[in-house]
Amino acid sequence: MKKSVLSFLLAAMLLVLSACGGTSGTATDPAGTDPGQPGTEAASTEKEERPVKKIEGNSLYVRKVENMPADFILGMDASAVPALEASGVKYYNFKGEEQDVFQTLAECGVSMIRVRVWNDPFDAEGHGFGGGNCTADTAAEIGKRAAQYGLSLLVDFHYSDFWADPGKQMEPRAWKGLKFPEKIDALYRFTKESLEKLNAAGVKVGMVQIGNETNGAMAGAHAWEDICEYMKAGSRAVREVCPEALVAVHFANPEKADSYRGYADYLKFYGVDYDVFGSSYYPYWHGTLENLASVLNGITAAYGKKVAVLETSYAYTPDDTDFSGNTIGEGTSGITKNYPFTQQGQVNSLTDVVDTAVNKMTDCIGVFYWEGTWISVGTDSWEANHTLWEKYGSGWASSYAAVYDPDDAGKYYGGCAVDNQAFFDASGRPLESLQVFNLMRFGNEVPLKADAPEDVTLMFDLNGEIEMPEKIFAVMNDGSRQEVDVTWQLTDEDIARMKSGGVAVYDVKGEAAGMEAKAQVSMIEYNFLQNYSFEEGDAGWTVTDLAKADELRVENKATDSMTGPCHYHFWSAAKNSVEFTLEQEVKDLPAGKYKFAISIMGGDAGDTDIYAYVKIGGEIADTAPMKITSYGNWDTGRIGGIEVEEGQTVSAGIYVKCAGAGNGAWGKIDDALLNTEP
Ligand code: CA
Repeated sequence: MKKSVLSFLLAAMLLVLSACGGTSGTATDPAGTDPGQPGTEAASTEKEERPVKKIEGNSLYVRKVENMPADFILGMDASAVPALEASGVKYYNFKGEEQDVFQTLAECGVSMIRVRVWNDPFDAEGHGFGGGNCTADTAAEIGKRAAQYGLSLLVDFHYSDFWADPGKQMEPRAWKGLKFPEKIDALYRFTKESLEKLNAAGVKVGMVQIGNETNGAMAGAHAWEDICEYMKAGSRAVREVCPEALVAVHFANPEKADSYRGYADYLKFYGVDYDVFGSSYYPYWHGTLENLASVLNGITAAYGKKVAVLETSYAYTPDDTDFSGNTIGEGTSGITKNYPFTQQGQVNSLTDVVDTAVNKMTDCIGVFYWEGTWISVGTDSWEANHTLWEKYGSGWASSYAAVYDPDDAGKYYGGCAVDNQAFFDASGRPLESLQVFNLMRFGNEVPLKADAPEDVTLMFDLNGEIEMPEKIFAVMNDGSRQEVDVTWQLTDEDIARMKSGGVAVYDVKGEAAGMEAKAQVSMIEYNFLQNYSFEEGDAGWTVTDLAKADELRVENKATDSMTGPCHYHFWSAAKNSVEFTLEQEVKDLPAGKYKFAISIMGGDAGDTDIYAYVKIGGEIADTAPMKITSYGNWDTGRIGGIEVEEGQTVSAGIYVKCAGAGNGAWGKIDDALLNTEP
């Protein structure tokens, strides 16, 4: 019940807001309908029904998002489009014809366009900083084009001359030297004049964002009181110029516990007037969807605000297409990869976000994708692309940004870092996945098939057989997992090389469901000893101190260890006070031929008697002499060919006796190994 009331309200709201700035009266305007009072039957019967028909013929699986209101916003950030087109980029439709990208987006079910606005992303000579050189003018150009296809605009004010995000909230250069009240006024006037420009251009402004990812900073301000003064000034300008538009605030990192409640508390305390609490949600970094829903529902419950996902995206390929590295790729560290980097993965990721927004959040009005139109400028070399990025601002940053942001953009300027997360390929052809915006309203059932084999990690004993699996798991197009047949490219020569190559890791390729399968194979030395490197203290080991040494214990000091942080340490000041055995007993060994090894280093030892030994049934079976020389020179005692019968008990260890050279004999013991021999 609550849901349907909400959708009446939303329907009314969107109808009203679509009239903002609509003085030019585009053909696709919902033509003068009176929305009536919010929540009344009139509103529901006259709500804008986007004429949506299911797109046929798509080969990707799309789960239907149940209960999606007709006016649920499916948004797309398209800020860089004018700069890309100036750089020579052409966008096509599914028939291969060149077509206005905003028409293609609208045809695929996108209902609102997001544009960022920077105050002054140019240097004194007029060179653009890049990232689309986005200003109120580019927003007007985009908004006008979008309006032709019934698309309204979310205007995303960064209140900076270039990128603003949680790590960067620099104030515009024009504010330098202003007193704080003057800065507030500057922000107010900038917002007002920008929106007036959009209104005059006939842009349909549906929503306005006061700041971008303002996690505790905005336009150079770091105190919440100041941030809120800025937000209030921006909001006031929106209410005056676009009274029907929604006012949104925008934050990132929903995964940080309680941070959103804290932000919303400040906004309430300082009296910020806004409608929508927006969040970024990048599945790679931003926690689970359950958590996102939970924190945003907390905002709705406590403050009565609508919520929205203002940024999300997912990679459709691990590959870069413009010679400028991407944020996300195969092997990117520190990310969560819940979906394959395929078009199907991109579709499933976005569908899951929208499904959560519609069905798990109390009052979510929409989800925006970032920035699905930002693709390669399309030449075949970095140099040629670089020329275009510099000239038209079509990369993430140009070298000219150094005058404003010398430490980041000014150093690491380049192309697009999200071309592999777009909905168009490098040549501007729309991907099948773009139709997800339409298809998630209907669902698209296709036969179940594998989308991507899962990488496997395998371990084999150097003395054993290498038996590669005949089946591995694949992620299916509907997101489920199933076993599929796999064949590995592994010759007898490869196997012999791996078995004789000692402890090492190999990448093995294969084929599964017509796709490349990958296995990481670790060749390891099995060890019948536990705690072979003393990392778990002296667990498993027995020390017998025959001469009362001053120090005889496990020590945690990586620089003195052979592997890992720990080793077994001894030291004793008096002469002839070092004599001990350190051994481990292993019961019920399988029958076979065994080898044992253990290592030592030390110094000031004088005359020594040191040896590795193996006892079978309590009797010494074999020994290997060892010696102490100097720091860092490990000596390994090795015993081979130890015949063990089924069920016998073996003890393996080291005997150490040092006369001492006067300064106190000392030493380190590490890395014991008991294993069968081939
Ligand atoms: Ca790139």
